[in-house]
Amino acid sequence: MVVRKVLVMLASAALAACATTSGGEPAGLNAIADDYVLLQLTIGEKEAGYIDAYYGPEAVQAQAKAEAPDQSLAQLSSRALALRDRATAFADAADTTPSLEQRRARFLVAQLTAAITRLQMLQGEKLSFQDEAQGLFGVRPETPALSSFDPVIAQIERLVPGEGPLWKRIDEFQKRFDVPADRLRPVMDAAIAECRKRTLAHIALPAKERFELALVTDKPWSGYNYYQGGYHSKIEVNTDLPVRLDRAIDLGCHEGYPGHHVYNALLERELVNGRGWREFTVYPLYSPQSLLAEGSANYGIDLAFPGGEAVAFDTQVLAPLAGLPTGEIARYVALNKEMKGLTSARYTIAAQFLAGQIDEAEATRLLQKYQLVSPERAAQSLRFIKGYRSYIINYGLGQDMVRGYVERGSSTEARWQRMEKILSEPTLPAELLGS
Ligand SMILES: [Zn+2]
Repeated sequence: MVVRKVLVMLASAALAACATTSGGEPAGLNAIADDYVLLQLTIGEKEAGYIDAYYGPEAVQAQAKAEAPDQSLAQLSSRALALRDRATAFADAADTTPSLEQRRARFLVAQLTAAITRLQMLQGEKLSFQDEAQGLFGVRPETPALSSFDPVIAQIERLVPGEGPLWKRIDEFQKRFDVPADRLRPVMDAAIAECRKRTLAHIALPAKERFELALVTDKPWSGYNYYQGGYHSKIEVNTDLPVRLDRAIDLGCHEGYPGHHVYNALLERELVNGRGWREFTVYPLYSPQSLLAEGSANYGIDLAFPGGEAVAFDTQVLAPLAGLPTGEIARYVALNKEMKGLTSARYTIAAQFLAGQIDEAEATRLLQKYQLVSPERAAQSLRFIKGYRSYIINYGLGQDMVRGYVERGSSTEARWQRMEKILSEPTLPAELLGS
């Protein structure tokens, strides 16, 4: 969608020097990384939205643009397969304590597997929801029977007693916390500032880091971070539907701190500038990197606001700023938390819809029933599923995997350190399952 190029002549010259003089650094991987960036950008010319961010030299983008018309999808697949073979030679899959260079190679292999899968899809190959997720994001999601969510719904029913359809009662209760449009900007600014402060207490960020916030409409997502390079993000928040109070902290953490903005900034500082690993100047959306990005961004909300701290901040700061009542915020947040138990019902519905087993009307009905949302929000959810397909697993499953890894740290400080580690190293989903 948005691909911004930052011309960094001096930095490129420095990186080129580093590739030949740094002794232990395998020059082979640097050559593979260069081919990888060009290949990913060329695939990006075939599919809008494939490249989430690129901030390497403009000349490589221009080369991709010039070469793309002469490259068929099948030729791009062959290039990706050959490049993956070259990267595999550096990966040593049997080594259980891999060096950072081996992890770099494994990361390239996994990212190229995703590119190969995406190219298969672009050539019309039909994959099951689970095979697609495995190929693109490196994990195999479960798609539980929808009836298995009935006990969760019964539990939620107890929190919002009354007459009429449950989704409607929930929607009416949640609507009380719609942030008025003219208060949204100050509320978002205050939320982001707090997320940043809480993150900076544990993670040192580049001094120049910054972002801009824009309120937008007519998008299939609720928020998006367009990373620009140079530690700079553009964060957009979709206001098609009213933004609710709890979403301020969610979006501030998810898109900003310690979420996407921090993840991209740490990769740029540690891997691109620190080590000269140019493959990290490009971020292909349909890749295992997205499981790390979405999982850490979602888990970052709980890390920055543990226990009752989100309720306290919403009550003391954001609700007054929005002119909203503070009386029932604890129940409101408890309800939202309970509803997270329904996250994977969405995978099942998406799998059935994408396989053509149910039509759009039935998918919307099931989303309403098993996500407990209004018809408008169910339609927005289906619009996202149609656009991004199995990408949806990155939010819930990614969050669970990141939580599992980070919370093996016993203290608050240890947890933030583990978070910083996965945000600043070439981390793959499978590594989150290790120690
Ligand atoms: Zn995100």
